[in-house]
Amino acid sequence: MVIIMNPDATAENIKDVIEMIQGAGLSAKVMEGSQQRIVGVIGDKTRLGSCAIDALPGVERSVSISKSYKLASREFHPQSSVIDVDGVPIGGDEFVVMAGPCAVESREQLLEAAEIAKKGGAKFLRGGAYKPRTSPYSFQGLEEEGLKYLAEAKEKTGLRIVTEVTEVEAVPTVAAYADLLQIGARNMQNFRLLKEVGRTQKPVLLKRGLAATLDEWLNAAEYILNEGNPNVIFCERGIRTYETYTRNTLDLSAVAAIKHLSHLPIIVDPSHGTGKWRFIKPMALAATACGADGLIMEMHPNPAKALSDGPQSLTPENYCDLMDSVTKLARFMKESGIKTQDV
Ligand code: PEP
Ligand code: MN
Repeated sequence: MVIIMNPDATAENIKDVIEMIQGAGLSAKVMEGSQQRIVGVIGDKTRLGSCAIDALPGVERSVSISKSYKLASREFHPQSSVIDVDGVPIGGDEFVVMAGPCAVESREQLLEAAEIAKKGGAKFLRGGAYKPRTSPYSFQGLEEEGLKYLAEAKEKTGLRIVTEVTEVEAVPTVAAYADLLQIGARNMQNFRLLKEVGRTQKPVLLKRGLAATLDEWLNAAEYILNEGNPNVIFCERGIRTYETYTRNTLDLSAVAAIKHLSHLPIIVDPSHGTGKWRFIKPMALAATACGADGLIMEMHPNPAKALSDGPQSLTPENYCDLMDSVTKLARFMKESGIKTQDV
């Protein structure tokens, strides 16, 4: 439920509303809208019982939220959220790119990738230290050693770090090194893990599950928000369909739908979305045009030698060429005031 205040409601009016909500054992969150302030009610609204909240001075009306996810919904929070990731805003005017290898393989490989990522204009370095691999015989990641290389790369380049956390026990360790905690597709409905990252204040990149509906994905975000961490960014990375030529089917309509349903930012991963390096550039440009807030892409100094996801990794040359085009398109859209959609 949200309480919509009159445009001329006073601080005192808002205080009274909050007191009524808290008096019923619920919590309240005040949000600044473009025209008016809104007070969100967090918890079971039936506890408000017969409290005549609509009759309080300064209240325009109260609105029930119809969705099972509330904190993630645009009904609850009409203004788009901008998530600050160690000083880099995501969801605002700037289009943000994250690039790097699928996995951290060695210090040399990672530092080389970081230099290339930076040169091309990325703001984040990606690289998995804990890898959720389909086969137990595949490279499983360097774990904390890999995190240390990521920290060194950040120190050398200033790039922010996004890296995956796969289990509850590893959350404090990964959070100590990462700026953005990635929850992978395979863990989108690992509810214990979602709650655990929700108990930190670290921004979370929540990838869409392999076959998740938008409703399931939004509810997964709700688990994180409900623990008190408001810093969630969605990542569309393709879903499993009957098509097998591409690794997954990149669902760019999810960008438009998530923007409509939620106030949280969304970025796109055209690497896992297609599984083929050749298709990353066209899909990256399409993601830019359809209103995504950024991209996350796999790039490797030598994809032929990659220990994971080589076929979907850009060479340094292809990465720089893609970045040149994406940067031009993003700049053109911003400077000419093109707005992809009215949410
Ligand atoms: C990854 O980013 O390397 C990864 C494993 O992604 P996803 O969880 O989307 O498969
Ligand atoms: Mn990968």
